[in-house]
Amino acid sequence: MKKYMILLIPAFLQLIFMGCADMGLYQRLVIKKTVTPQKSVRTTWLGTAGMFITDGKTGILIDPYLSRFSMSKIVFGWPLEPNYALIRKWAEKLGRENITAVIVSHSHFDHVADAPYFAIEADAPLIGTESTINVGRGAGMAESKLIAVKPDRTMRFGDFTVKFIESAHGPALLGRVPYPGTIDQPLTPPAAAGDYRLGGVFALLISHPSGAILHHGSAGFKPEMYDGIAVDAIFLGIGGRGDTDQYLENVVLKTRARLVVPVHFDNFFKPLEGGMSFLPMVKFAEFYRKADKHRSVFTLRTMPFCEEVAILPMDTAIEPLGAIR
Ligand SMILES: [Zn+2]
Repeated sequence: MKKYMILLIPAFLQLIFMGCADMGLYQRLVIKKTVTPQKSVRTTWLGTAGMFITDGKTGILIDPYLSRFSMSKIVFGWPLEPNYALIRKWAEKLGRENITAVIVSHSHFDHVADAPYFAIEADAPLIGTESTINVGRGAGMAESKLIAVKPDRTMRFGDFTVKFIESAHGPALLGRVPYPGTIDQPLTPPAAAGDYRLGGVFALLISHPSGAILHHGSAGFKPEMYDGIAVDAIFLGIGGRGDTDQYLENVVLKTRARLVVPVHFDNFFKPLEGGMSFLPMVKFAEFYRKADKHRSVFTLRTMPFCEEVAILPMDTAIEPLGAIR
């Protein structure tokens, strides 16, 4: 037994050093907090694919997931109950009155579980697939606050326009999409991770007078989904991705983004208070290396954890693009 333990030591050390290298890379790429230009669009990364995007008048909350259930709860299918106190605290922090809409890109637990409770706190509509709407119903939301959307729908919120583009989930679990199917009945917590079925998957094209942002929360894609679409910046889910080059080709290069901000690589089985740590096997350095081949086309940056930074208009909000190399 001891012999096997000794044999495992180099593997552990390798994991630790890879983790340190990834963390150094992440920190080097972090967008610095600058003086917020007037009328700028600001974003807060809440871990996973969770983003709050606001121009000060209108705020769009996407995939907020702060409950961050432990790995054992997920693996063993134990009942999950959202952390209502933490949701209340963050609704307060972001400003209830600033949350105009809560949008969910697909209905796995790490995207949808907290979303209806944020919507309730903010008295905002919950928007997503029918599966997402059933999570809203299970949370006791009024039908008037539930908006089911189909691909290609466009909605307006203040100066923001959001287009729902049909996308695909990344092959996150040993090459397969976890928890496929739909949620067909109202889902009330506590519920198991496996009760939060995928539903459909949306990418969100968020347009504003100061620029266009793409929220591509899950690391899959459909071959022609971005035909004719160009954006300034992408929030790109990289956890559970397939081939990195193909992913970059079909999502990032296709949309001609100038700024790429990877998300959904943090270890969301650990509590938010512990700060950012990497999801095991996310291969952040590999992503960086392959993205860096296109340094003349786009700049790669990371978001600070749970802190607001200005993102648009890009030339004034992020200074200086490309200087990180
Ligand atoms: Zn998912």
